[in-house]
Amino acid sequence: MKRLSDYRHIVGDAAISDIYQRARKLYNKRILHINSTFIGGGVAEILGSLAPLMNSAGLDADWRVLHGNADLFNITKQFHNALQGDSIELTDDMKKVYVQASEDFAAYALIDHDVIIVHDPQPLPLIDFYKKNQPWIWRCHIDLTHPDESLWDYLKGMILKYDLAVVSHEKYVREDLPVRYRIIQPVIDPLTRKNRELTDTETAGLLDEFNIPIDKPILTQISRFDKWKDPIGVIKIYEKVRRKVDCRLILCGNMAMDDPEGVAIHDEIKNLTDDLVESGDVILLTYESSLLVNVLQSLSTVVIQKSLREGFGLTVTEAMWKKTPVVASNIGGIPLQITDEKDGFLVDPEDYDGFADRIVELIRNPELAADIGANAREKVRNRFLVTRLLSDYLEMLDAELRASGA
Ligand code: UDP
Repeated sequence: MKRLSDYRHIVGDAAISDIYQRARKLYNKRILHINSTFIGGGVAEILGSLAPLMNSAGLDADWRVLHGNADLFNITKQFHNALQGDSIELTDDMKKVYVQASEDFAAYALIDHDVIIVHDPQPLPLIDFYKKNQPWIWRCHIDLTHPDESLWDYLKGMILKYDLAVVSHEKYVREDLPVRYRIIQPVIDPLTRKNRELTDTETAGLLDEFNIPIDKPILTQISRFDKWKDPIGVIKIYEKVRRKVDCRLILCGNMAMDDPEGVAIHDEIKNLTDDLVESGDVILLTYESSLLVNVLQSLSTVVIQKSLREGFGLTVTEAMWKKTPVVASNIGGIPLQITDEKDGFLVDPEDYDGFADRIVELIRNPELAADIGANAREKVRNRFLVTRLLSDYLEMLDAELRASGA
């Protein structure tokens, strides 16, 4: 069971005391989080830490998962892509499947909490199937700068019923959605299996278990196999890098339950890199293992995040916490995390040579890599740990309950 006091030695007494003070007004308030997957992706990752810590602070926090089927997740994946810039042919059948999942859920899931927090678009229609007598908050983790207009107009009809929209970046605040907004940047939990310090014995065991050689520098991208994470772009950059320095590329992507496209994209990458996979220069991993992610982020020489869209990009913070230098696209939430040339490198997503040059520089210059890594760790300690998120949530919940007269 996660306890707030476990974080004292990492974030200091003042941060812990601040949380207990904020929580006093919210004792026993019943808070419900709803999303659509228990495993895979950043939202599940955050809720697994946030909900227990809310309880540790004295609230009654609950986390439910909308039970979707393949049809629903095929549609909501298209929604996800269309919110990030794809176009979509929105049909009545799609709307029906989308809304039906919420209606079915409402038939057996009792919601009588004091505040409801709905994460991302999958469970958004739920608000239509409950008597609304408490604040409902829509927490959107997606980059909303280029949504498909028809989809956006459709979803807006539901979002307007929410009391508050929470987004990760001020750029995602949309003038054409006249609701109240709050900006909350995501975080990582330093005590999870993914982010805690590994012992030497654990590290050796994991390298052995997952068959990861460390005879050469390692360049890694950890991301679902998703076109917005641009795994093909990563391979092109790797091909440029290896012309200058010998190194290995690892692409690690688990398969999120609400992401039906992962297998096809993985297979496409596998075909593209057949020779390199055969020779062991490229390693593709699809295991669901936090410890594997931990060891890769800890031991890689450089972590790359070549996203084309990125609501925030937790993988960047995770690697920074482990003092591993990150070279990442200058898009979405990534520049909130990295200050270029200080605690990482930001590169235009189309600038393949820029990516390759930075990576080569870091592989050749371990002192530079160590400096960048040390700065990265402190940035995360000060701004991107779960205690800060908890504090932001407590402030938000207090404000929303007051506004509703509760
Ligand atoms: N992740 C993982 N295993 C993988 C790939 C990703 O556990 O093989 C985790 C990753 O460590 C991070 C989350 O999934 O915690 C991805 O969050 P991010 O914000 O980077 O991207 P999203 O998947 O939400 O678009």
